[in-house]
Amino acid sequence: MDIKQFESELIQLKSELQSRVSRTHKHIYQKDQPVSANFNEQIKETENDGLVMALEAEGLEEIAQIDRALSRIQDGSFGQCQNCGKAIDEARLEAIPYTSNCIACAS
Ligand SMILES: [Zn+2]
Repeated sequence: MDIKQFESELIQLKSELQSRVSRTHKHIYQKDQPVSANFNEQIKETENDGLVMALEAEGLEEIAQIDRALSRIQDGSFGQCQNCGKAIDEARLEAIPYTSNCIACAS
């Protein structure tokens, strides 16, 4: 397994989420600020500040999960299930690089 590859994916994902969260944040708190066209579409679909706030909370939670995955890379436990200690299937890690549980424990 290529840890470096997962690490760079996690860092990339984190920066995408951070910019998404900050755009969401602006939508909630500075409504007259322009946001990207794509993001505007998303907002039109929800059109509800409660949902937008949930979206922001979800993004922040994902960022926290990514931070934990990055610290597992640092301490060498990345790719191990935090519940049973077995190796997480690599295909699962490719789909969700910040996952902390194997398929058996997650389901
Ligand atoms: Zn497990």
